[in-house]
Amino acid sequence: MRLQTNFSLKDYNTFGIDVKAKQFIGVESFEELKHVLKRFYTEEIFVIGGGSNMLLTQDVSKTVLHINTKGKRIVEHNDNQAIVDVEAGENWHEFVCWTLDNGLGGLENLSLIPGNVGTSPIQNIGAYGVELKDVFVSCEAIHRQTLDKKTFLKEDCKFGYRQSIFKNELKGQYIITKVRFKLTTKNHHLKTEYGAIKDELKNLKIDKLRPRDISRAVIKIRQSKLPDPKELGNSGSFFKNPIIAVSKYQALKQQHPNIPSYKIDENLIKIPAGWLIDQSGLKGYRKADAGVHKKQALVLVNYGSASGQDILNLSKKVQDTVKQNFGIDLEAEVNII
Ligand SMILES: Cc1cc2nc3c(=O)[nH]c(=O)nc-3n(C[C@H](O)[C@H](O)[C@H](O)COP(=O)(O)OP(=O)(O)OC[C@H]3O[C@@H](n4cnc5c(N)ncnc54)[C@H](O)[C@@H]3O)c2cc1C
Repeated sequence: MRLQTNFSLKDYNTFGIDVKAKQFIGVESFEELKHVLKRFYTEEIFVIGGGSNMLLTQDVSKTVLHINTKGKRIVEHNDNQAIVDVEAGENWHEFVCWTLDNGLGGLENLSLIPGNVGTSPIQNIGAYGVELKDVFVSCEAIHRQTLDKKTFLKEDCKFGYRQSIFKNELKGQYIITKVRFKLTTKNHHLKTEYGAIKDELKNLKIDKLRPRDISRAVIKIRQSKLPDPKELGNSGSFFKNPIIAVSKYQALKQQHPNIPSYKIDENLIKIPAGWLIDQSGLKGYRKADAGVHKKQALVLVNYGSASGQDILNLSKKVQDTVKQNFGIDLEAEVNII
């Protein structure tokens, strides 16, 4: 554990924004984490995992605490299921690959999502018809101030669409240190209905489907659609898909008969934010090095030297334009710091 000062965060956020942390410290064990929390006041610490869900708009005057704890373990294995414990600092996709290597099913649809395992419950990561909550058993966390350790069971976490208690009531209070998953060892529940998975599987010409095949298909689809942060800085979907009242949706459908929608319940409808941005003529829009991705309008990108403020200004332009055209407020999914 080494404290570094005036430390560039460029390699620690997937937007590739070059801001400085006044102090930076990486922790590799629970004891180190506890030690740091004892040493600094809560409000002086800013936690970073994979940096794939944040836009850094300025230098960070707090001490940046990088969670780098490693370890994954099968704690129980029987004919139907396996229980797996994983440390917070493990890379999510590497963990998914490890489960597939061990013949475990459940995470294949969540392949190639950037970030760390410890952050995955915070926004209940999801893709291709699967959400973290579908395989989540519990997580361990430490309270930043009292240093009390607590286990949160699934029902405690109040998971929703890109939501959990850690983003709401308990925001900023706990640091997640370990996550426990329940995965399948056979009779896997393979989900192929969502997106282009079926078409991709046809291309791969597979007879007997395994979780690994779904993972391969998902990786191919994601690579064809989403920019790789290593090549083009981005933070995935910048905005949440807005949820609006049915009455508002019906009024909009009069003007825009092709508006896509997903029913949430009798009163609410979800609209794809990417469609709203695309229809507002902003797909591919670029100002200096800040842009809206050419293929996926929901993704804002850094073409090289954009500052966090440039990306933030662009996001405001997108929000204003969508509001003007559709009367809908887009909310950022990314944490703006
Ligand atoms: C190309 C791309 C594609 C993406 N696709 C998807 C997708 O399909 N589905 C999806 O759901 N998301 C997606 N995302 C978003 C992102 O991958 C997830 O939100 C991921 O869980 C973020 O993890 P992270 O470790 O990078 O978090 P960070 O960006 O490091 O942190 C996010 C927030 O959590 C806090 N934090 C970090 N670690 C901890 C911890 N251990 N305990 C408590 N708080 C912590 C931070 O302070 C910050 O507020 C994508 C992102 C990119 C760049």
